[in-house]
Amino acid sequence: MHATANAPTPDEGCRSARTALDAVVDGEADALSVARVESHAAGCADCARALAAARGHRRRLRRLGDTARMPDEARDRVLHLLRGVRGSSSR
Ligand SMILES: [Zn+2]
Repeated sequence: MHATANAPTPDEGCRSARTALDAVVDGEADALSVARVESHAAGCADCARALAAARGHRRRLRRLGDTARMPDEARDRVLHLLRGVRGSSSR
């Protein structure tokens, strides 16, 4: 009899946390998913780092959309990418 039979393996916990991570960062996840990911990240350095990185990345993208304050060369590249994204998903 295995003591860990009922507990999800760390790998499984990580996988479901990573799966929900995008929706959580996008604010599209329900409160339960957010709580599950955050409680997992609280005990898992890898997922905590992934969550923080995803949030920082998302925040940076959002800020770019509002006020693009960066070198012209980089801004042109980003705006070009953003235009491509907007063009493909017309809403
Ligand atoms: Zn994890």
